[in-house]
Amino acid sequence: MNAPWQGPTASDSTTAAQALLAVDQVSLEYRTPQRVVRATHQVSFEVDPADRFVLLGPSGCGKSTLLKAVAGFIPPCEGEIRLQGRRVSQPGPDRIVVFQEFDQLPPWKTVKQNVMFPLLASRTLSRREAEERALHYLDKVGLAAFADAYPHTLSGGMKARVAIARALAMQPKILLMDEPFAALDALTRRKMQEELLLLWEEVRFTLLFVTHSIEEALVVGNRILLLSPHPGRVRAEIHSHQYDLQSLGGVAFQQTARRIHRLLFDEGQSPETERELDFTDIRIAY
Ligand code: ADP
Ligand code: MG
Repeated sequence: MNAPWQGPTASDSTTAAQALLAVDQVSLEYRTPQRVVRATHQVSFEVDPADRFVLLGPSGCGKSTLLKAVAGFIPPCEGEIRLQGRRVSQPGPDRIVVFQEFDQLPPWKTVKQNVMFPLLASRTLSRREAEERALHYLDKVGLAAFADAYPHTLSGGMKARVAIARALAMQPKILLMDEPFAALDALTRRKMQEELLLLWEEVRFTLLFVTHSIEEALVVGNRILLLSPHPGRVRAEIHSHQYDLQSLGGVAFQQTARRIHRLLFDEGQSPETERELDFTDIRIAY
């Protein structure tokens, strides 16, 4: 039987000490003159080094807000976010965000200059070192030949790869991606998922990835946190390391995708119904 799972808490110091990132009972709110919007409610999860940790939930459940809080742009109104045990209170070069909009690349800079820019702006490296680092990561994403091209001459998938190279070149402790492939056509999106996994095999970075696509979550993630609709609360955490692009369409993959769908959208489902299913890899939160 699935016991109610509350997620790690501040008192759970042994696991908290090991986690790279600890999100501990975090509630996030937007305050407008008219009202207060609660985006997430007491969300807890932990990301370990080299995890591909996915936040999955319907639109409006607070995924982007959570990512912005981890990045240090939004302070929690309740709870705490810790990176290697230290409270996150502002943005820093140890957490780099890749957004959905690839037009975040300044058009007047070449691909190489775009990748170099954060390294120079943050005074992480000298110009020569930054150039070397930029070319290294452009090579990793297969864009070495386009180093001197301008962004408007690139396809959507190529812009996505520049954004990833730019983020990885900063060698952050954790890479934050907010629906990075959502604006791409289906085939390019699949290709980018594949490339991201290959890149992870090579570099072994730690990834916190936001999506509202169940399929994408299963393919990209090794662990998936399911968030309920607005305000986002932890619904369950799922181990999904066994799935990749090859599993798409397979029976086990489809069954897991259906279970996740049910967990996300069957609000009134009783624990009894859930128990009939074999949730070997799923911890139910409530
Ligand atoms: P998701 O990324 O899961 O789609 P968001 O984190 O963008 O969800 O939003 C969570 C909730 O917070 C939504 O109800 C949204 O309307 C609200 N929200 C997001 N940004 C703002 C803002 N700047 N001001 C007020 N409410 C906001
Ligand atoms: Mg969002």
